[in-house]
This record gives sequence, C-alpha cells and structure tokens, in this order.
Amino acid sequence: MSSSIIAEIIAIGDELTSGFRLDTNSQWLAQQLGDLGVVVLHHSTVGDDMDANVDVFRHAFTRADLIITTGGLGPTADDLTRQALAKAAGVELELHDDQLEHLKAFFTRRGRTMTPSNEIQAHFPAGAKVVPNPEGTAPGIELGYRSKERATFVFCLPGVPAEMKQMFAQTLQKRIKDITGETQIIHHHVVRCFGSGESHIESLLPDLVKRGRDPQVGITASRGTISLRLTTKADSIAECLKIMAPTLKTIDGCLGDLVFGFNDDTLESVVAARYVEARKTISITDAGMLGAPGVLLKQSAAPLVAAEIADFEKDGVTTRAVEILERSGSDVGVAIGPIERDEAIVAAGESKYVVAVATKGSDDVKTHEFMFSGHSAIRETLANKRVLNVLRLA
Ligand code: ATP
Ligand code: MG
Repeated sequence: MSSSIIAEIIAIGDELTSGFRLDTNSQWLAQQLGDLGVVVLHHSTVGDDMDANVDVFRHAFTRADLIITTGGLGPTADDLTRQALAKAAGVELELHDDQLEHLKAFFTRRGRTMTPSNEIQAHFPAGAKVVPNPEGTAPGIELGYRSKERATFVFCLPGVPAEMKQMFAQTLQKRIKDITGETQIIHHHVVRCFGSGESHIESLLPDLVKRGRDPQVGITASRGTISLRLTTKADSIAECLKIMAPTLKTIDGCLGDLVFGFNDDTLESVVAARYVEARKTISITDAGMLGAPGVLLKQSAAPLVAAEIADFEKDGVTTRAVEILERSGSDVGVAIGPIERDEAIVAAGESKYVVAVATKGSDDVKTHEFMFSGHSAIRETLANKRVLNVLRLA
C-alpha cells in the first residue's frame, strides 16, 4: 500500500496559527495525496513571518520528496511564500513577462487597473514553473529543489480553498502521478455499523484492524455509528472491490445485524429503503424525542403514515404502540416513551426509556429498554438512532 514518496503539507497564514481560521486545506490535500498513494508524514502550519517560513521550507527539504503549500501567494506585504521559497532554495526571484501580461489582461478584463503591488505575482523563483490559476490572480509555483539527501518537488498554491482545489485537480494531480509513476488507483469502501461500541466491534473482528493488511481496515466512531473504512489499490474500482470481497464477507459474518449499510447510507435512509421495498408502512407516537425520528424518516422519504408528538407515561408505551398501529392502519407502529432529561438523573445513569414496536397481524408487542446516556452533545442523536435501529431490525 505504501509508496516511496513522502510528502509534507505546509499551511501558511497568521489567521491559521492564531486560531482565527481552521486549516481545512491541509485536510483536503492530505486526503487527495492519500488517494494518489503518497504518504503524508508531516503537516506544518506557520504564520506570516519570513524567517519562520524559510525555516519551515528548509526543514521540509530534508524530510520530504513532495511539498505542497497553501496561502501567502497574494500581492500584499504579508504574503511571503514566493520570497521565502526562493530564499530557502537559494535562488533569486525573476520576472516572467508572460505572467505580467497575463495579470494585466486579468485586470483589464475586469475593468480595473493593476496596482504595482500585483507585479510581485509575476515573479517566480529562478527555475520555477507556473501552475495556472484560472479563477484568481495568484498563479501557483512549481519548483524542483535538490539537497544533499534528496530531490524535492515543491508546489505552492493559493490559500483560497476553491482556487486551491481547482489547481490541484487541473495540474497537480497529473504532475504528482508522473512523479510517483503510479498508475493504480486507491479506492475506499465504508461499512456502517450501529448497535455496539467501537471496542466491542473491533473485538469481533480478529486481526482485521491491523497495519499492513490489504485491504487496510480503519475503524472510527461518530455519534454511535461505527465505520469500518476499507482501503486498497488496483487498476480499477472493480478490481479494488474484488480485492475487498473476502474481507467484506468476513465482516458480514462477524458483525451480522450490526452492519446497516455502506458509504453514504444512514440509519434513516436504510430504514426508508427497507420499508419501501417490503411495501410496509410505519407510524410513530413519540413522547420522548420531540418528533426527531419521524422528521429524519420523513426527510428520507420513508413510508410514514403517521408521526405524532404525544404525552404519555412510561407504563403506557405498549398500549400506545398498538393504538397508533390500529388507528393509522400502518404495518408497524412505534411508541417512544418519555425520557427523564434531568441532569442528576442522567448522570446517575438512571434515565431509561422504552421503545415499543407493534406489528400488524401479531399480538406480540416488542419492547426495548435503553439508557439515555452519553455526553449531552450527542445523547439526543444517539437516542434517535436507537429508535431508527429498532425500526430497521423490526
Ligand atoms: P490571496 O491572493 O487571496 O491573498 P493567498 O494565496 O495570499 O491568496 P491567503 O491570503 O493566505 O492566500 O488566504 C486567502 C484566504 O484563503 C484566507 O482569507 C482564508 O479565507 C483562506 N485560507 C487560507 N489558507 C487556508 C487554509 N489552510 N484552510 C482554509 N482556508 C484557508
Ligand atoms: Mg493573501
């Protein structure tokens, strides 16, 4: 899986180091490079300071075959990337006449005159190539640098995310493929699970979440949903999926019903699809969750014939499930019992709620008891998902 190319991503700007803005460029670039088979070993973030920028470049030259920077290519005094790169590489900045013309034309087209400060954007370190920027004034820079240890390819892109992404897709992607000599593609396939904790799920998958495996399997958790991300490399997506097939079968065998879907699937989209396919309708009466599960199902176009917010006691849950089932004429009736949201009760782990499911043609009403627990920021979402999961398995 690993390529021999080591990359470093450098994000430049005071607004990043001060915490005023989050560096999303590096995150995006790292994912793109990963898909190109390039290992990103370092992310560096540096403010608009000349010495600090030169230092970061010099350091990166010693440990990276590929460097991508974002930010600091603008015309203002705090934009120092081109100067810092030239200084670190020990070359002068030189004027590219065609770029100057290009800049002038850019301003003329917009009915503006170019200020002298923009001229700096037509200057490039000696030996550099221009990375075109179709949407903005700041072209990017490509420079090769040879140190004692290695040859490094440097690409400098503007900070504006839309311009940066376009330039990456139009120019860098192909250049980087040429540099790595890589013809294969990397493909990801995500298995979505719900109903158990991350560590429990991991324990059910002996040896799967291990480094050096192909496909590689990574496990992450977000608001109760556990995701297994399979990654492999081959000539085509079909070929990648073929490599993944035995692992997917193992996961299916080990996790069974804990798996609810793949990639962009959500619990609500899966519930909606299942009921549509089975031609079964759902009704919900909800005393505990302010109607949220009903809203989620509605947004996913689930066959929901009734969804109401109601007021009933814990003891009435079973009766209410049967009542909504009969009154609405649906195939499955769900009653969500009230939740005690009192902090002290939740903290003591005593806040339980009951979800009852009545099914047409069956006298057996199934009840499920859950703890209303977890961090206050996620326990509502988690509680909603548990109801959707009950519906999925009903
Ligand atoms: P410009 O010509 O627009 O000045 P530039 O290359 O000088 O381009 P910056 O001035 O560093 O880029 O950043 C321009 C804008 O791009 C910032 O105000 C910010 O909104 C956004 N930006 C810069 N760096 C990042 C980053 N790492 N992540 C997300 N957004 C960023
Ligand atoms: Mg700028």
